[in-house]
Amino acid sequence: MEMTASRILDGKRVAQTIRSEVAERVRALRARGVVPGLVVVLVGDDPASQVYVKNKDKAGNEAGFAVRTVLLPATTAQRELLARVDELNRDRAVHGILVQLPLPKGLAAEPVLERLDPAKDVDGLTAHNVAALWRGEDGHVPCTPAGCIELLDRHGIGIEGKRAVVIGRSQLVGKPLAALLLARHATVTIAHSRTRDLAAVAREAEILVAAVGRARLVRAGWVRPGATVLDVGINRLEDGRLCGDVDFHEVAPVAGAITPVPGGIGPMTIAMLLANTVRAAARATGLRPDELVER
Ligand code: NAP
Repeated sequence: MEMTASRILDGKRVAQTIRSEVAERVRALRARGVVPGLVVVLVGDDPASQVYVKNKDKAGNEAGFAVRTVLLPATTAQRELLARVDELNRDRAVHGILVQLPLPKGLAAEPVLERLDPAKDVDGLTAHNVAALWRGEDGHVPCTPAGCIELLDRHGIGIEGKRAVVIGRSQLVGKPLAALLLARHATVTIAHSRTRDLAAVAREAEILVAAVGRARLVRAGWVRPGATVLDVGINRLEDGRLCGDVDFHEVAPVAGAITPVPGGIGPMTIAMLLANTVRAAARATGLRPDELVER
């Protein structure tokens, strides 16, 4: 097998750059009397969700946002949750609303997401924003897929004309990422649990994305030498360590470029959440984000 020295795509570093750009925009908004407001709604006490929410809260505060976490008990009724969303939709100090998923058993996520004002739906999950994405119109793009594209762009890795394979077809990651790659003129295959001979499909990819949730599913033999590999997966091993959907040690020598877990797509996701929120705040104020900062 041909061996290439692979480049590590350092999401942590790129995310830090994006976060300081966002902070600069927040300062410009604050100078105009606008404090970008982000609210994270957390229902129940799922430990993984608590960690994610804490990280978002911290990152938002560091960037100068007014961040608030709305904590609701797992016993919250569906209509009560919808009423809270209505309240946040009306609140002019709130520019971005994020409902942390998954919701506890008994609560349906879809009606809650659908209730969000699309302008405040910084996770890009309302039908309005999904349609905008597939139609190529302006809207909020889900943070993890947006982070994948941004990471490629900031490393100068071209997308146009490339063969891209996305493993995973969730609303949150796989589908919107496929739409973004397609919009950037990649030839896109979406693979999933019923894909036949997944290894051979994956091996076609010049850009391979794993968004599955199976530790070390992607092995060296699945990867075309020199391919760019984005590992979205976050899996907790029995010993408590985090690991991606890609067998990093096996794949890194084959890939041309690869994201680590942690420190790859995860930090990019949070950075894009902040970028979406500052954009929403600028729009709510009637400003274009690019008007905020001297270039
Ligand atoms: P999900 O909703 O569970 O979707 C998983 C997808 O993988 C499904 O489309 C499923 O196919 C497919 N799949 C499952 N087993 C498979 C297999 N053996 N072979 C091929 N495809 C398989 O998960 P998600 O929300 O997209 O998240 C995926 C992973 O990314 C998880 O580990 C999650 O924790 C992580 N994640 C990370 C970030 C981040 O910030 N880095 C953000 C979001 C999610 P079917 O549709 O056929 O069932």
